[in-house]
Amino acid sequence: LRGGDWETSVRESAKSKSLRVLVTGAAGFVGTHVSIALKRRGDGVVGIDNFNRYYEASLKRARSNLLAQHKIFVVEGDINDGSLLKSLFKLGKFTHVMHLAAQAGVRYAMKNPKSYVHSNIAGLVSVLEACKNANPQPAVVWASSSSVYGLNSKVPFSEKDRTDRPASLYAASKKAGEEIAHTYNHIYGLSITGLRFFTVYGPWGRPDMAYFFFTKDILKGKQISVFEGPNGRSVARDFTYIDDIVKGCLGALDTANRSTGSGPAQLRLYNLGNTSPVAVSKLVRILEKLLKVNANKKLLPMPPNGDVFFTHADISLAKKELGYNPTIDLETGLRKFLDWYMDYYSSSSSLPKRACLEFLDCAFW
Ligand code: NAD
Repeated sequence: LRGGDWETSVRESAKSKSLRVLVTGAAGFVGTHVSIALKRRGDGVVGIDNFNRYYEASLKRARSNLLAQHKIFVVEGDINDGSLLKSLFKLGKFTHVMHLAAQAGVRYAMKNPKSYVHSNIAGLVSVLEACKNANPQPAVVWASSSSVYGLNSKVPFSEKDRTDRPASLYAASKKAGEEIAHTYNHIYGLSITGLRFFTVYGPWGRPDMAYFFFTKDILKGKQISVFEGPNGRSVARDFTYIDDIVKGCLGALDTANRSTGSGPAQLRLYNLGNTSPVAVSKLVRILEKLLKVNANKKLLPMPPNGDVFFTHADISLAKKELGYNPTIDLETGLRKFLDWYMDYYSSSSSLPKRACLEFLDCAFW
């Protein structure tokens, strides 16, 4: 199916006098926002996504339609397809790769462990191999995760902290990715920046994440399960609004751009969080206030496998080196999410579906 029209679409979509970026996972939540932000400021963008069925396929299709409206071409394919990547690099002559494709979620790994190996480990190697062999060799910015801090008790989490106790296979796959990135940097001289995102939320978000399915269940009058830590302690997350994350991603791409060609290829790692953790019980209270509905809550102890109780980013390094400066507090961000949610689900024929999510009751990553 890769004929002349396909090649023209890739070339046209990548065309730019500034950055030419391949965005993997472009039909995903973060990928959609980053792709549009890049295109809006004049960069060339080509997306790739395998449209996996982890959550509502219709939402990924709707995001991809949005990308098409912004003249961003999204190739339907898997990042493990080396020949596809080779063709894309040849046509797109990418200066940068924003690698966001991954199998997300922590509990899904209990039943689908190999999907994490396929997308997060083999997939990353496949992308880095393609970058290594490409001419020009692009700088890579990729999504790691706050989950690498695992069962760490020291807060706030700093990039220098230990990451040797992952609490889930997802966390382990991201930690493995950081080691793989290190290897490709020092053996092959690839410029690689890893970004540890902290619980990203906002419009066009992921239906498997707590803020999203709490909204859906509260509106339906269904009971929601709110997890508590040991001895009734709060479970809290450093919720970070999507626009702040996008600014961090663009800052990382621009910083990698400035360093390309000047000295040894850089290897960098940054926390992108909000540095303001909020208890999940407070998240629910804000949703109740904004939705003007009392939630039917059940307090439960956090399941033992997969999640950590608390996340809190130290963002001083990203502030200093990327100019990263998150500004959106949780209530403001949730208001924007709810505006989108009401609009999307009232105008879309596809109602939110719970398909294959029954064991994903709390995804924070
Ligand atoms: P998402 O699931 O919405 O997006 C990931 C996209 O990658 C999906 O559209 C999926 O179809 C695609 N994909 C998965 N495997 C693929 C493969 N093998 N080939 C091609 N495409 C593939 O998730 P997101 O929330 O947008 O996350 C983006 C990145 O950020 C991921 O790497 C994720 O692990 C990381 N991250 C996200 C959060 C968060 O809170 N959203 C937190 C920490 C890290």
